[in-house]
Amino acid sequence: MIVVMKERAARHLIETVIAKIEQLGLRSHVVEGTELTVVAALGEKRDGARQALETLEGVEKVVPILAPYKMASTEVKKQPTVVRARDLIVGGGHVGVIAGPCSVESREQLLLLARLVRDSGATGLRGGAFKPRTSPYSFRGMGESGLELLAEAREATGLAIVTEVMATEQVGLVAKYTDVMQIGARNMQNYPLLEAVGEAGKPVLLKRGPSATMDEFLLAAEYILKTGNPNVILCERGIRTFEDHVRFTLPLASVPYLKQKTHLPVLVDPSHGTGKANLVAPMARAAVAAGTDGLMVEIHPEPDRALSDGFQALTPDAYNRMVTECRQVAMVLGFKL
Ligand code: PEP
Ligand code: MN
Repeated sequence: MIVVMKERAARHLIETVIAKIEQLGLRSHVVEGTELTVVAALGEKRDGARQALETLEGVEKVVPILAPYKMASTEVKKQPTVVRARDLIVGGGHVGVIAGPCSVESREQLLLLARLVRDSGATGLRGGAFKPRTSPYSFRGMGESGLELLAEAREATGLAIVTEVMATEQVGLVAKYTDVMQIGARNMQNYPLLEAVGEAGKPVLLKRGPSATMDEFLLAAEYILKTGNPNVILCERGIRTFEDHVRFTLPLASVPYLKQKTHLPVLVDPSHGTGKANLVAPMARAAVAAGTDGLMVEIHPEPDRALSDGFQALTPDAYNRMVTECRQVAMVLGFKL
């Protein structure tokens, strides 16, 4: 339920509502808007709870939250959430660009790409140090030495680091180095991991599972929000379908759909979303046109030699062209990129 307070309701009346919610065995979550304050009462439905709250002083009305995800829903909070990490801004009219290699491979590779990313005007550097690979025989990342290189690249460029954390036991280590914690598609429904990254307190980039519905995706985000961490970025990265001309099918309708259902920013990853380098820039442009709050793109100085996902990596030249084109689309629509 959402308890909508009367305009300019006094602080002590809001406190009374919170106390009542807790007394009813529910959790409270206060959202202060520009004009109105609402207090969400979260938990299992209780008989009589609605009436008990409705009759309190300062309460305008009590309405049920219809979406299964509560804190993520626009029913509770209408203003868009803007997630910031260093100079990376995702949401609220800012299209944050995060680019970098699929995997951190060497100091030379990472620093070269980091400078390229910074010079393109992007503000986020991606790179996996712990890699989820389909085959256990593939390159699985450099581990902590990869994280050290990411931190060095941040020192050199000022870019915000985005890197994946694959397991609960790695959360402390990864949080020590990164600015944004990435939850990979394969882990979208790893609930203990979602709670652990939420508790680490850093912004989280949550990738959609390749077979997850929108409700499942938003409920996964809810696990993170429920820890008290409001900084969640949703990432559409493509789903598994019968199509075989692409690695994954990138459903761009999820951008406007999610933006109607949630206040969280929505970012698109056209690299995993197509799996083909020559499809990345057109889909990145389309994502900007669809209203994405950010892009995450894989690049490599020599895609043929990449240790992972080389077939979908843009060369430096192709990447620079993509950013220029996306910026033009953003400008027409009044977004900053
Ligand atoms: C990645 O970003 O390199 C990655 C492994 O992505 P996903 O989890 O979307 O497959
Ligand atoms: Mn990859």
